[in-house]
Amino acid sequence: KNIAYSVVMLQQQKRAHKNDDALEDVMTILPLGAGQEVGRSCHLITFRGRSILLDCGLHPGRQGVDALPFLDAIDVSTIDLLLVSHFHIDHAAGVPYLTEKTGFKGRIFMTHATKSVLRVLLSDSIRLAPRGATSADTTGGGFALYDEADLAACMDRIEVIDFHQVVEAAGIKFWCYNAGHVLGAAMFMIDAGGTKLLYTGDYSLEEDRHLMPAEVPRVSPDVLIMECTYGTQKHEARDVREALFVSTIERVVQRGGRVLLPVFALGRAQELLLILEEHWRDRGLELSRVPVYYASKLATRALRVYQTYVNMMNAHVQRQLDVANPFQFNTVQNLARLDELDDSGPCVVLASPGMLQSGVSRQLFERWCSDNRNAVVLAGYAVEGTLAKQLATEPEEITALDGRILKRNCTVVSVSFSAHTDYKQNATFVRATSPGAVILVHGEKHEMNRFKNQLLSDANKWPPEDRPTVSSPENGQKVLVRFPADAKVLLRHGADEKGDQTFFDSNKRQRTASLNKTIDPGVLVVKELQTTFYTDAQLDASTLTVVEIDQTLRLRLSAAAAEGLLSALRRTFYDVKLESAESSLRNDPKLQRLLKLNVCGHVSCLLITDEHAQNHLILNWRAAPVSDVLADAVAYLALHTGKVPTAGLLSTDCCAPSSYPPPEQEEQQQLPDTYSIVFNLVKKTLIDHFGSDLVEVLPNEIDHNPDIKPMIDENEEEAHQNDPVPLLRLRIIHDEASAICTLFDHGAPRFRVDVASDDDALRHRLQRLLTHILAASTPIDVTGRETSTFTFPPDAIKAVSQDN
Ligand SMILES: [Zn+2]
Ligand SMILES: [Zn+2]
Repeated sequence: KNIAYSVVMLQQQKRAHKNDDALEDVMTILPLGAGQEVGRSCHLITFRGRSILLDCGLHPGRQGVDALPFLDAIDVSTIDLLLVSHFHIDHAAGVPYLTEKTGFKGRIFMTHATKSVLRVLLSDSIRLAPRGATSADTTGGGFALYDEADLAACMDRIEVIDFHQVVEAAGIKFWCYNAGHVLGAAMFMIDAGGTKLLYTGDYSLEEDRHLMPAEVPRVSPDVLIMECTYGTQKHEARDVREALFVSTIERVVQRGGRVLLPVFALGRAQELLLILEEHWRDRGLELSRVPVYYASKLATRALRVYQTYVNMMNAHVQRQLDVANPFQFNTVQNLARLDELDDSGPCVVLASPGMLQSGVSRQLFERWCSDNRNAVVLAGYAVEGTLAKQLATEPEEITALDGRILKRNCTVVSVSFSAHTDYKQNATFVRATSPGAVILVHGEKHEMNRFKNQLLSDANKWPPEDRPTVSSPENGQKVLVRFPADAKVLLRHGADEKGDQTFFDSNKRQRTASLNKTIDPGVLVVKELQTTFYTDAQLDASTLTVVEIDQTLRLRLSAAAAEGLLSALRRTFYDVKLESAESSLRNDPKLQRLLKLNVCGHVSCLLITDEHAQNHLILNWRAAPVSDVLADAVAYLALHTGKVPTAGLLSTDCCAPSSYPPPEQEEQQQLPDTYSIVFNLVKKTLIDHFGSDLVEVLPNEIDHNPDIKPMIDENEEEAHQNDPVPLLRLRIIHDEASAICTLFDHGAPRFRVDVASDDDALRHRLQRLLTHILAASTPIDVTGRETSTFTFPPDAIKAVSQDN
């Protein structure tokens, strides 16, 4: 009662104290891993009292607890949310440790595909880990860090999110975009009370054999946390890389050598297999005697996962699907155990892990590296501290896992198929998303610094307002991003006429118990994700000022839209007042026409046709929940009138001109228009239900057929006798029964419907159907809605009782 909504911005008055936190909102970004390194991605975001962890990976080049991000630097029990970008070890393998071995209590989200693949990967890694292992097996994570039971418990806690699905948790909204990096990889956008942060995870803007490129969000984030794995490097064109890849492999097998492709079991492996499969098929007999092996215990399960998610892949895969599943390879043989390998001649083997730290790829490497006919093709990004990285420098000798020194005579070739962006794509992405601050992660220190400098120098050529700040924090180094604090008023509560303030009547008992006095006028404020009630006196004493916002929106309308506007508004809203209409403005030669409307007492509309016959619609309203929604709806209608038939149902006369009638004529012109829409809707629906043969339009006179007795409500009898001529009459025939439906005017733009039939079932059915149609086509009445009751959130009550 007596509560009016008003949305106002609270602005900061002059700073009362120098270190008053209330004056600004500070977002803290703290890398716990992947700060000036690649591996163990993990970033803590704190903002407005909430904590979000982005990824929790393990470092592939480190072992055991050493591979973990610096979780002990923070209080993990305060984390509200964990968002995981993709299934790679360096982003996700630390999750079971976090959930099962620490005090983490938050919620966890990842895409469905990420969760499926992660389960397969991690359970495989646990199985492969030596019993009682104390070190991390880099085939995929830390296996002494958790066991199968931990993994199962962890999986139970993980919630899934679809691309573009908006989820709200802990007062924070977030959603994700396709990142194009591996199956299911996502970029997360976080919206904390209007302040937005985008985390790219690993992403690729290049379409490959099976994945779509990353989406570029159209929402601009305030903060962008971005990978810069490849620093300032430029990727060669894809066809160049593919040609180099297949020609290298072909050259090696032709000279009788073996090719080792160390790969991560899932992701790039499937991409390379698709390339090899295609090449082997194209070369026919020439290569057919050279076997291609995919040495992964995961092979079968991996392919099953990939086959499950083919609908998430690109058009290339979708097209091939019509013929056969592209992941059912003809050339490639799965190799479950190494002793199944026919090692007698040239062959190509894809084996994990990709970094050659241990496992099958390492065994094969040690077996083959001293033969100069053989080759290792490194197709992914090599992480610091791994043998793959060391090989890139072409060392003469390497140390085997058992300590032997082996000569390295085999060829080492790097062809990057790593699905990360290069510098140019990253810079394009920054330009397109236009963030205020860029935080670089997931890149080696030197690459990252080169990237930062290059980006800063490029950004200097951009307009000043588009230039972001750029930082590249190390692990443990906080980045603070400051925002002017703002707050939003949910509603205003005023004193009523009698001077005694009534507040929250439905909970009077609670109120008197806790407060034992009435409540002063004030506003309910959302600030720092908290809802607080400020009385006017408290507001005066605070650093906040209340400002009301008058909104103006100017739209250019097509001629058809301008013509149809009034009738479109009338069809939609119950209360549309025509305040003035002039078809020629003598005192202003610049204007041809002017139409002034008010929609539901909230939104005033001015339609002007200028001397060039251009139509302008200017909407004015005071920002408030109801008015904002109304203004949106009016703008939508204005832009769609005369263009798209509204919802397909009102298609008959959306474009019907109503040509600005003067006020005294408007009723006559507007009514038939509204009628015909409803009539057409009724006819169309009935024909859809019963078929065009069975619905017949009758002349508009009461049929005095004594066989059919009109079924009329007792109370309506009197009104019915005064009814003028019916507006529409229809006969419906259905299963040997028939009915007559009659539509009467019931105070425009409302209708009453009568259904007469001997068949009760048919009559009820028609009555229900027509009532629904008429309800749906009645204009919306929102006049006076702002006085409807509002339930205060519990926080508000608490705040009031504490403050008093
Ligand atoms: Zn990745
Ligand atoms: Zn990564």
